Amino acid sequence: MPHNIAVLGSTGSIGTQTLDVISQFPDRFKATVLAAGSNVDMLVAQAMKHRPALAVIADTSRYAELRDALAPLGIETAAGPEALADAMERPDFDTAVTATVGYSGLLPTVRAIRAGKQIALANKETLVVAGELITRLLGESPSRVIPVDSEHSAIYQCLVGEDPETVERLIITASGGPFRTWTAEETARATAAQALRHPRWTMGAKITIDSATMLNKAFEIIEARWLFGVTPERIRAVVHPQSIVHSMVEFRDGAVKAQLGIPDMHLPIRYALGDATRLPSAERRLSLADCATLTFEEPDEVKFPCLTLAHLALEKGGNTACVINAANEVAVAAFLRGEITFDGIYRTITDALDHIPYIAAPTLDDYVATHNEAIGYAKSVIAG
Ligand code: NDP
Ligand code: MG
Repeated sequence: MPHNIAVLGSTGSIGTQTLDVISQFPDRFKATVLAAGSNVDMLVAQAMKHRPALAVIADTSRYAELRDALAPLGIETAAGPEALADAMERPDFDTAVTATVGYSGLLPTVRAIRAGKQIALANKETLVVAGELITRLLGESPSRVIPVDSEHSAIYQCLVGEDPETVERLIITASGGPFRTWTAEETARATAAQALRHPRWTMGAKITIDSATMLNKAFEIIEARWLFGVTPERIRAVVHPQSIVHSMVEFRDGAVKAQLGIPDMHLPIRYALGDATRLPSAERRLSLADCATLTFEEPDEVKFPCLTLAHLALEKGGNTACVINAANEVAVAAFLRGEITFDGIYRTITDALDHIPYIAAPTLDDYVATHNEAIGYAKSVIAG
């Protein structure tokens, strides 16, 4: 019996690589639900190939095209964010790969956890926005989360067989993004085209900009705090431009374990889909030549002030990180459209933090309200 999988965000960078892995193991994996934002052509092509039971498109204006293309194949179709969240309760899959971008991952993930599904978590924003709530829900559910994010997959792999009590520090590596060697002045004026040119990874546009501001690393510190239950002062980021060491764990006896590999998301995806086991791969191997020069340096929090937001968010807690995430989503979209400067992303976030009321112990409804309020506020600030 194959392992049935729902791929949320199947048309994106992680989604398409997830479908590669599923195709490589047809006896082991089957995509039974596919969901995308608005790219109906790619979703239809994927559905024709993978023959899921259901295909969902978040953008309701594209529904007729989806239905008309897939009805003759007997594939069920649905549209809209609610339909996507409802699909998480279907009995025809057991693992959800959450690979939509931004806040859109939160509500489907909550529903999937409540329905007892396994989560292969790519959508780190879910844990950034509502890490405390998600951790609580996981405590009440048989669901287990296996991270897809390469750093967290590395840490997860380093922790196998170890007593969590003996962990002293998590060391999260960062490539440093495209502006690592630029001056602060050059970085502040960087264009979208420059920020989209990531030196190591090919990813969706939003996470590529988050990598350029290094907010992605701040998000990954928050993600690690909730995934591994390690307090923030024991998590640090280190810049490692070669992206070979995917992250490290330091133990109380002084031992440091790391997971190394070429920068390729297929490995963490395969590890998560395989339920933290090692499936065979014919991909390029890491050669010793790749490791001839491995360098590590302190991140520059002056040039990349977004990095400081991780500790601010974790110290203040409550809805702080939810505000940061929402304001960032608006700011990144505006930066990509050329409406604000690169350093305007950080300013938009801090402006929203000063404006949106703090809630110390948010419910799910509070997170939704905070998100909507911060989106509205950030848009109004940018519109001037
Ligand atoms: P992409 O932008 O490449 O893909 C995003 C996917 O989400 C697309 O399928 C898109 O559909 C879909 N989508 C967008 N908006 C919605 C919505 N409102 N409802 C439902 N689906 C939606 O992103 P990535 O694959 O790069 O990233 C996905 C997630 O994985 C992010 O959270 C990111 O941080 C995380 N991640 C990504 C890594 C990578 O290497 N790419 C590495 C580590 C983590 P459509 O194509 O129709 O727009
Ligand atoms: Mg990462």
